[in-house]
Amino acid sequence: MQIMSDSDKDAFDSSPLYTRQVQENQQRLAFDLQTGYDYVICGAGTAGSVLAARLAANPEVKVLLLEAGGTDDSELVMDPNRWVLTLGGNLDWGFQAEANPHLNGRAIPYSMGKVLGGGSSINVSTWSRGHQDDWNFYAAEAGDSAWGYDAVLDLYRHRIEDWAGTPSDYRGTGGSVYVQPAADPHPFSIALLEGAESIGLPRFEDQNGRLMEAEQGCAFVDETVRNGRRQSIFRSYVYPLMSQPNLTVLTQAMVTRIRFQGSRATGVEFRWQGKLLCVNASIEVVLALGAIQTPKLLMQSGIGDPDQLRSFGIEIQQALPGVGRNLHDHVAFGCIWEASTEPLPTAPRSQTVCFWKTNATLTSPNFYTYAAGIPFTTPENAAWIAPPEKVWSLIVGMSPVSRGAIRLTGSNADDPVRIDANYLADPRDLTELKTGIEQARALGNSAPLRRYTTREVHPGTLSSSNREQFLRNGLVTFWHQSCTAKMGRDELSVVDHRLKVYGIDGLRVADASVLPRVTRGNTMAPCVVIGERAAAILQEEHGHMTASTV
Ligand SMILES: Cc1cc2nc3c(=O)[nH]c(=O)nc-3n(C[C@H](O)[C@H](O)[C@H](O)COP(=O)(O)OP(=O)(O)OC[C@H]3O[C@@H](n4cnc5c(N)ncnc54)[C@H](O)[C@@H]3O)c2cc1C
Repeated sequence: MQIMSDSDKDAFDSSPLYTRQVQENQQRLAFDLQTGYDYVICGAGTAGSVLAARLAANPEVKVLLLEAGGTDDSELVMDPNRWVLTLGGNLDWGFQAEANPHLNGRAIPYSMGKVLGGGSSINVSTWSRGHQDDWNFYAAEAGDSAWGYDAVLDLYRHRIEDWAGTPSDYRGTGGSVYVQPAADPHPFSIALLEGAESIGLPRFEDQNGRLMEAEQGCAFVDETVRNGRRQSIFRSYVYPLMSQPNLTVLTQAMVTRIRFQGSRATGVEFRWQGKLLCVNASIEVVLALGAIQTPKLLMQSGIGDPDQLRSFGIEIQQALPGVGRNLHDHVAFGCIWEASTEPLPTAPRSQTVCFWKTNATLTSPNFYTYAAGIPFTTPENAAWIAPPEKVWSLIVGMSPVSRGAIRLTGSNADDPVRIDANYLADPRDLTELKTGIEQARALGNSAPLRRYTTREVHPGTLSSSNREQFLRNGLVTFWHQSCTAKMGRDELSVVDHRLKVYGIDGLRVADASVLPRVTRGNTMAPCVVIGERAAAILQEEHGHMTASTV
């Protein structure tokens, strides 16, 4: 047998012949839909794609992957610079959080990907592994060292990453996810890192090695982009297997309910091509619908807080009050400078990342920032102080103390959920933000960046009360919605350390919902880890078991 090199494999996966084989195979499988599969994976987003592909790698195992969104075969997805154009369009669920009194009554947009690949098909392509403190915290919460930093570092290095940058003990090659350092750093990006160093943030060789063990620092970003094209997690994991007869991928397939026999999940109901269909899972059902839809489906299927379920006439399958609680996310805020005549990077994707902390007792950063040549602001703040035509922004993210919640408005799949993002509910968040923003301003105003700047626009030297208004009017999401079906051992935990839903057999959750708290940095890479852990757990527990052997 001849082994294909990576570039051969890429060329093969995108060849017209392979594309036709995939189309024909998937049409055949969809036409010949079965009443049961070994595994039914709900959601072909970041974590769901990893899990489905790892399970289907065994040709004996029959996998059905159900995705409510449509194809990713679009320049909007494939060109990573068009991510901004996906927001609010048909690749986005278009969620909106409830009006928040702490944000002066604003109801902020709360985008999530609705397409093969989920968030990984519309995001900014930054690859951020999560800090060692995050993973060690998860291991402690779960009571399982398999979630700890050492184990996860091993996974990244030996299974997940195909690192195209300078080799190091921290990075691995040959994995499924192509990761490159920022291509052709622009002089602005180089100046920005000099600026970061000038305000005391040490420089690291890349975003995901030693920096993820440090208290603060800066580096060029890592990204899942190759030759200018997005490498979504769906394309990296699932697409290469889609000509196999054991992997059925249905798009526009909206999962509406989990089916049970006693305390066992036996399958799901889903809407597809105008029909409501039922499908059985002989081994397990896995929910990978993301941190908003996973708790929604659990609750509408009878798993959640009994009082809330009763109020909508939903029969209780399993009382788990933590479902939908604990919503965690990074808040984002834009600091804006008027640009000089010096050229700026044209791509709306940062080439740099800086992490810092606002509290000496912390062992990991609670702030980070990316940079882009766009005005990152809200309509309210733009109306207050209009940004000039030519600007650049620091897009600052903070891990807040406040937690939100996802609640039902009804028992039907078409009933929207109430998203209470709850930003700034805890007063400590505003205090930290005021401090953290000062570090961003120091960076933006630092000497190495002066030649790119005419003046600081947002927030500038506002009075303390105006600064507060500016934050209340300016906070938005960094799109890292997580933690609504958290893994752990307390009364609000929804899944155990093996991602099994408490009290129910044959049902797991594998997506950002299970994180006990949001990571330091972005959440795509951690969701790949979740998908890999879920696959390893299922393979350990069920081995090569298939429908014919159960
Ligand atoms: C605009 C934006 C920019 C971002 N930028 C970055 C970045 O640069 N780097 C980074 O690391 N992270 C980024 N993120 C976050 C990251 O993409 C997400 O955290 C990650 O994709 C979450 O993975 P998941 O598996 O939990 O869910 P998702 O990837 O959201 O997948 C869930 C999938 O389930 C599907 N689904 C939902 N409900 C149903 C249903 N009822 N039936 C069937 N299917 C359903 C969805 O359509 C979706 O495909 C960004 C996110 C957004 C939205």
